[in-house]
Amino acid sequence: MSLDTALLAIDQFITRAGKTLQNPEKKLAITFYGGEPLLEFDLIKEILHQVHQVRYPTLSGRITHSITTNGTLLDEEKLQLFSQYGVLLKVSIDGPKKFHDHNRIYRDGSGTFDTVVHALETARDKFPAFFNQVGYIVTLCPPFRYMERAAFFDSHPLFKGHQFLVASVAITNCDLEFDMSEQEPDCVEFSELLRQMHQKAIRGDFDDAVFESGLFSQGLARFRQAQGEGATETIDPNGCCIPGQRRIFLSTSGQYFLCDKVAQNDRFSLGDIAFGVSTDRAWQIYNDYISLSQADCLKCPLGNICDYCPSSALQGDYMGLEQKRVQCACKLPYTKKMLELYASLTEDVSPDALDTWIPPHLE
Ligand code: SF4
Ligand code: SF4
Repeated sequence: MSLDTALLAIDQFITRAGKTLQNPEKKLAITFYGGEPLLEFDLIKEILHQVHQVRYPTLSGRITHSITTNGTLLDEEKLQLFSQYGVLLKVSIDGPKKFHDHNRIYRDGSGTFDTVVHALETARDKFPAFFNQVGYIVTLCPPFRYMERAAFFDSHPLFKGHQFLVASVAITNCDLEFDMSEQEPDCVEFSELLRQMHQKAIRGDFDDAVFESGLFSQGLARFRQAQGEGATETIDPNGCCIPGQRRIFLSTSGQYFLCDKVAQNDRFSLGDIAFGVSTDRAWQIYNDYISLSQADCLKCPLGNICDYCPSSALQGDYMGLEQKRVQCACKLPYTKKMLELYASLTEDVSPDALDTWIPPHLE
């Protein structure tokens, strides 16, 4: 991406956010994704300088940043800059070395685990306040081995007390065959992990359950949110964003998309930096998703708490029911398990127990 493209998109973003900025409590977020965004470190550095020192110094305290990285290019210079601007770092790490190095490799086939851990140790030793805010993203891919991963993350000092997001590899629109059976809610390890999380909650070992928290907190957040709202007469498409309203993704060529999850596909484009964001296109995508889903969702017991959205319905070059139904079939048993966990945590620990497990941004 050129600097001009990035700055023009940021100018458009700040203009569109005018109403939001009228509320002094609200903040804006500009985040950096790849591929691997640190390959463009010089560009990111210049963008941060332009935003905070040159173009919008008066908004500096209200513009936040995060960066999702595989951690292989993190060094002291980058950590120093991110620490200076308070950039929230989200580092991908998939588990112990043998799991992480299975998929996350250099071109010569060697694993990246040691490099990433070294970078994290540097961050911890040289920029401790900044390091305390580092979050981790774990991508699960068969073999899942939940217990081994939990044992690693929950006991390693680099991860204690940090926020985790644990998600499975996306199987929609993917040509590769994966055996996802270990992900079934009735799989022995999955059930054991739920039991372990419950036990840790009873003991108050919250900092020692970072992996479990990252895996289950999104599911739990849905119940707490639904409980707060109470029963409703209507079923909203809960998980579905209004395209372009709260989040928008800019490709390297200057095209706007709903988010990074659907950015490979032109039919999810909302416009580009030359012509701006098309609200007609945004409504078209939203309505297409509703038309596709509503017959199933209106009959589904999860209608009011489901978080599925256009990214869950990816099929071919757009959205389709066939792929979506594959995902829906797993959703009900998974949600039942989450409801059991939610009920047991609120009853056996305390109604406030979930405050510790669910990060506020998930609600
Ligand atoms: S993940 Fe789904 S709900 Fe979120 S921005 Fe992307 S399409 Fe919208
Ligand atoms: S699981 Fe599927 S059918 Fe049920 S509410 Fe979610 S998207 Fe709709």
